[in-house]
Amino acid sequence: MLDIEEVEKLLRSEPEGTFAGIIPVDFAGRTVNMESFRNLADEYGCWIIEDACHAPGGFFTDSNGNNQLCGNGKFSDLAIFSFHPVKHIACGEGGMITTNNEELYKKLLLLRTHGITKDPSLLHENHGGWYYEMQELGYNYRLTDFQAALGISQLKRADEGLARRREIAQVYFESFRNNPKILSQSGVVQGHGYHLYIIQVERRKELYDFLRSKNIFCQVHYIPVHLLPYYKSFGWKKGQFPNAEKYYEQCLSLPMFPSLSENELKYVIESINSFFN
Ligand SMILES: *Cc1c(COP(=O)(O)O)cnc(C)c1O
Repeated sequence: MLDIEEVEKLLRSEPEGTFAGIIPVDFAGRTVNMESFRNLADEYGCWIIEDACHAPGGFFTDSNGNNQLCGNGKFSDLAIFSFHPVKHIACGEGGMITTNNEELYKKLLLLRTHGITKDPSLLHENHGGWYYEMQELGYNYRLTDFQAALGISQLKRADEGLARRREIAQVYFESFRNNPKILSQSGVVQGHGYHLYIIQVERRKELYDFLRSKNIFCQVHYIPVHLLPYYKSFGWKKGQFPNAEKYYEQCLSLPMFPSLSENELKYVIESINSFFN
């Protein structure tokens, strides 16, 4: 998770205006306290884009004791969701942006469709019913109708899927809580969206290979971005983000999806325990 104290230190260390915005990620589905980030962002004149791709249905509790769903538009300027096949709601590809800012909303509509509008209130001229204007350089960022239909049907099952994810998390947590080989785990956290359930272990690669040999396909989320060739080409180096690097050494994402059966879940847990025994 983005450490708000580190962000504040960074904002304070440079002249005002150096940083334009903050992009907190609801990592693994654990929802960032966006109220705290909003207060910080306002102090330094920054915008906020909340990357809520991992956390549809996730929430945090604000300073008044109210649960705030991620992406509800109260704190961030924009929140982004992904409908890639591995996400909670899948449309094949594509995504969604939520906002309560009308100006940004209108701008997004324009950018989505080649910078073209037919809205009479926005036109510079109007030659008749057929008339439209291209007002900016935009894109084709439209979700197809077929994908949207799939998305709407998935939305109906979203609560059920989230409830099952939370059940699975509970089982993992109970199974590993007294196991000293599991150095940390996502755990049971109120409001967690559980896109991922992550454990940290020594001998991570060995465990990964062992599970794979038993037909259990885990994943590692994520390789620190500053160590990837593209970012390295800007001069980022090993050692600059020690927490991300240390985390990467030990993290392993366990199977986490609503259709994971009780037997499969049991098999995963038994296999992990048998590796350590
Ligand atoms: C999947 C994902 C994205 C990217 O989504 P796309 O639909 O591929 O653009 C961005 N951020 C996070 C945290 C994600 O999980």
